[in-house]
Amino acid sequence: MSDKRDYYEVLGVERNVSEQDLKKAYRKKAMKYHPDRNTDDKDAENKFKEVNEAYEVLSDPEKRSLYDQFGHAGVNQNAGGSGFGGFGGGFEGFGGFEDIFSDFFGGGFGSNRRSNGPRKGGDVRVDITIEFEEAAFGVKKDIEFLRTEDCHTCHGEGAEPGTSTSTCPDCNGQGQVRYAQRSLFGETIQVKECSRCQGKGKIYDTPCHTCKGLGKIRKKKKMTIEIPAGVDSGSVLSLRGEGQMGSKGGPRGDVKVVIRVNDHKDFVRDGNHVLYELHITFAQAVLGAEVIVPSLDGKLKFKIEPGTQSGTMTRLKGKGIPVLNGYGRGDQYVKIIVDVPTKTNDEQKQKLMEYASAMGEKTEFTTKSKGFFNKVKEALS
Ligand SMILES: [Zn+2]
Ligand SMILES: [Zn+2]
Repeated sequence: MSDKRDYYEVLGVERNVSEQDLKKAYRKKAMKYHPDRNTDDKDAENKFKEVNEAYEVLSDPEKRSLYDQFGHAGVNQNAGGSGFGGFGGGFEGFGGFEDIFSDFFGGGFGSNRRSNGPRKGGDVRVDITIEFEEAAFGVKKDIEFLRTEDCHTCHGEGAEPGTSTSTCPDCNGQGQVRYAQRSLFGETIQVKECSRCQGKGKIYDTPCHTCKGLGKIRKKKKMTIEIPAGVDSGSVLSLRGEGQMGSKGGPRGDVKVVIRVNDHKDFVRDGNHVLYELHITFAQAVLGAEVIVPSLDGKLKFKIEPGTQSGTMTRLKGKGIPVLNGYGRGDQYVKIIVDVPTKTNDEQKQKLMEYASAMGEKTEFTTKSKGFFNKVKEALS
């Protein structure tokens, strides 16, 4: 420690220098020795560190007073040499640094600056599964999730009520620490929440017994939400301002309700349209018929025209799913599948043979009815 130069001397100022002049002096020196202007200059780098360290102490009234009384010994917090990225430790709790450097970095510290102010809380994800019809027409659902609330015992302070608190020595009550980090672009200043006081700037001997000193607790929140008609699997409903608490007066984050829709036993969804496969018999296809088909609005009469081919698609206009946040509905498509019987009894086989014969078919069928064999036998005898 004995080889350290006097901080006032480092910055070239009188011992009774005003805060304003101290800042000016520091700025001049910092710019002169800044690594961006003195590439690969070890001497300049050391001077830059020295200047920063001096300003860090003298710009802090508490530290300056300690330094005035006890010299380096009063403020040798960096004696251990704990450094960030090999750059000496002189930046912790660094008061005016950001203000000064934002000037000649073109305001590049905007994001750091913002972290001083109110911050929005985090989002909470809630997954919910609903039925096909509920998605189509909307539904009210109860949801439940955990989110942060102010601790009711300490009202967010973190200290056990009635016990004493003091300014956090790690961040001097700032709630955050700044440190320099070397990168491709030279040196950048990182700001992060003080880990000792969790950004509160205050520490206490007796943490609150309810929240263990965090000031926040996780609490179950129940809500009834209205899911609008037309949502689909993967739709996300945002409930603004219902998520985690913000910090420093920032608003709460959001709740993101991620919706999953169960498959339907009859319908397949395609956007706002609904597809239904109607299985009919050969006779129905040939002769035509009136049948009942399910729809989202209940059972509907459906007419099969005589001579309908398998694969025919019929549109039922406006019987689909309502457009989300819009007007109108999609359609229901009925796809007709003509089922071929896989098992037939003798009588049915006999009739089909007769039918084929009536149609003029001259086919050697694989399956033959007993009646057919008998007829052949009769013909041969
Ligand atoms: Zn508490
Ligand atoms: Zn702190």
